[in-house]
Amino acid sequence: MKNKVAIVTGAGSGIGREVALAFAAKGANVVVSDVDDQGGNETVEMINKSGSKAIYVHCDVSKEEECKALADVTVEKFGRLDYACNNAGISGAQAPVAEYPTESWHQVINVNLNGVFYCMKHQIPHMLKNGNGAIVNIGSILSKVGFPTASAYVAAKHGVDGLTKNAAMEYGAQGIRVNNVGPAFIKTPLLNALDDDTLNYLETQHPIGRLGKPEEVATLVVWACSDEASFVTGAYLPVDGAYLAR
Ligand code: NAD
Repeated sequence: MKNKVAIVTGAGSGIGREVALAFAAKGANVVVSDVDDQGGNETVEMINKSGSKAIYVHCDVSKEEECKALADVTVEKFGRLDYACNNAGISGAQAPVAEYPTESWHQVINVNLNGVFYCMKHQIPHMLKNGNGAIVNIGSILSKVGFPTASAYVAAKHGVDGLTKNAAMEYGAQGIRVNNVGPAFIKTPLLNALDDDTLNYLETQHPIGRLGKPEEVATLVVWACSDEASFVTGAYLPVDGAYLAR
């Protein structure tokens, strides 16, 4: 991935940080973006120490103008855009549908679904100029199945799956591949709100017998963007310790 350029949203923590580090390890220049400026700058420091090149750009993915600016600044600084991992996401409130707070519904849809749309909308035109590109949207096992009390998250992640398929069909012939990488439960700060009993229960739901690690997701994301995955597009790619195999 030498001389190639990757954007990663939500790269100040968890899965996004590991994806940014994995792109850099393959030689790509990385645009690290987040709303958490401290976390984002830490990721940049980690990459720059390793000898690869990264910059930080603040971007709230729920704001279309910031997603456009992120794509435009990337091309201004590095001259091109080859890969994007639309990863930023939040978990939202936990309640059954009839009690689900409407404010949290809108917040989750804005970040986890609208954010992916805004990012792709403004990334794809730059990729079309190169005649190629690869996008990975971070969905979830909850792109495929439900999870009681998480209706907004489940709806948003199912939406990401549909959006991924459509974009892959619309732009495949023009050299752009788009995939949905679906992690099961991964040990990141996103799970900090869960108590030990819940975490232990979640472990039992993964036939592999444990939760995943962010770097295990990052490996799949970078592969899906690489030329080795040249015929892989419009796909849901699980990284889930057999969660969905049950
Ligand atoms: P995390 O909380 O560690 O990281 C998420 C990052 O996104 C944070 O740095 C946060 O500041 C950033 N972010 C939040 N809102 C944002 C916004 N509006 N604009 C830009 N950045 C924003 O969580 P994670 O586990 O690394 O999650 C990353 C992605 O993986 C999410 O889309 C999440 O839904 C998905 N995912 C996580 C798990 C899991 O179990 N951890 C499972 C499946 C899918």
